[in-house]
Amino acid sequence: MNPTLLVEAVALVALGLACAWLYQRCQRLQSQLRERMLSFAELKTERHLALITEQSRQQALLDAMVEGVLVLDEKGTVEHANPAVQRQFTLGQNFLGRPLLEVIRDPALGQALEQIDRSGRLEEFVLTTPGENPRTFQVNAVSLRDADRLRTGSLLVFHDLTDRQRLEEMRRDFVANVSHELRTPLSLIKGSAETLLAGAKDDPEATTRFLNIIDKHADRLTFLIEDLLTVSKLESGRAMLNPQPTELRRVAEEALEALQPKARERNITFVNEIPVALQVHVDGDRLQQVYSNLADNAIKYGRIGGKVVVGARSLHEDIVEAWVADDGQGIPPEARDRVFERFFRADKARSRDLGGTGLGLSIVKHLVQAHGGEVRVESELGRGTTFYFTVPRVNEGN
Ligand code: ADP
Repeated sequence: MNPTLLVEAVALVALGLACAWLYQRCQRLQSQLRERMLSFAELKTERHLALITEQSRQQALLDAMVEGVLVLDEKGTVEHANPAVQRQFTLGQNFLGRPLLEVIRDPALGQALEQIDRSGRLEEFVLTTPGENPRTFQVNAVSLRDADRLRTGSLLVFHDLTDRQRLEEMRRDFVANVSHELRTPLSLIKGSAETLLAGAKDDPEATTRFLNIIDKHADRLTFLIEDLLTVSKLESGRAMLNPQPTELRRVAEEALEALQPKARERNITFVNEIPVALQVHVDGDRLQQVYSNLADNAIKYGRIGGKVVVGARSLHEDIVEAWVADDGQGIPPEARDRVFERFFRADKARSRDLGGTGLGLSIVKHLVQAHGGEVRVESELGRGTTFYFTVPRVNEGN
């Protein structure tokens, strides 16, 4: 073979082999590149998804918070307000992108923002909103900063203290009222005992008088403590009801029966006008207490020689309206809305003199409400008072 041809052939084979190798290499590189691009795209999507999940998680967290959260930019414009803060300050629409002090016009909030500007944070700042129904908030806030420590805005958290403060106030009033109620009978008991010890016990008439005072006021303390325990049970929801189909007339009759001796002392007649067949779905013992408290008041504040009438009618197929009416002194108009409050007395002297605890009607209200009913009073000065309450009726369907 021609040596030149041989060299050319070898060169050609070598070139072919090199080309095949190069082709393979290119293919491999291409597929590696494709794989990398694919995994990069996947990574991007994954990161994107993670970011979206994180953002929606944060959004859900802010939305579910009881505390109000406001995010402001560095100029004090509202960037974000969660639903709680929108409710707390009734923000309405179009608050985003507006200066906070324009959205909530409250000078105290201005002071809070100044403090955040000055010191970078705000701790337990108490803010009471102006207006007819003021609300009190505890505000905590921090300045927001970027990676270079430059201020980018602020984050404010509003904790509504109004209900807690109201409860605190009620508790304080309650303790003050109870102490006051306990003090009077206790001081009378102590005073009588001291007088007896100081020598009055040698006089039989004085002894009887002071022992009667002790007896009466010890009873008053017992009633007060019993009523307080009932109120406390009812208010804490610990009083369990056991509603059963019950004949209303019989429940009222039993309560009136127990009060007969007291009624006789004031020559008061009971009239039971409740229809015989009327069935209600109630806890009989609890409803008896309702009748007992209302009829006891009707005797105490009713006319000597007067009448106390109990009656009832179906309001519609599910509800019965019952009433206890007297022909006594009546309740002054300004006191009618308040008689169901604990310790409220329209006629203080008379109530105390008759051993009233000031809790009877508040117990009535709780018991009726626990049955899903309502109470109300109608009264005319000098003519009498009628207390109405509703209870569930038993009909054929029940
Ligand atoms: P009290 O132990 O003082 O009777 P209640 O809660 O039962 O407490 O009643 C609150 C106040 O409502 C009483 O002090 C009394 O002034 C007024 N009141 C209640 N029932 C009557 C009534 N039938 N007629 C007139 N006033 C009433």
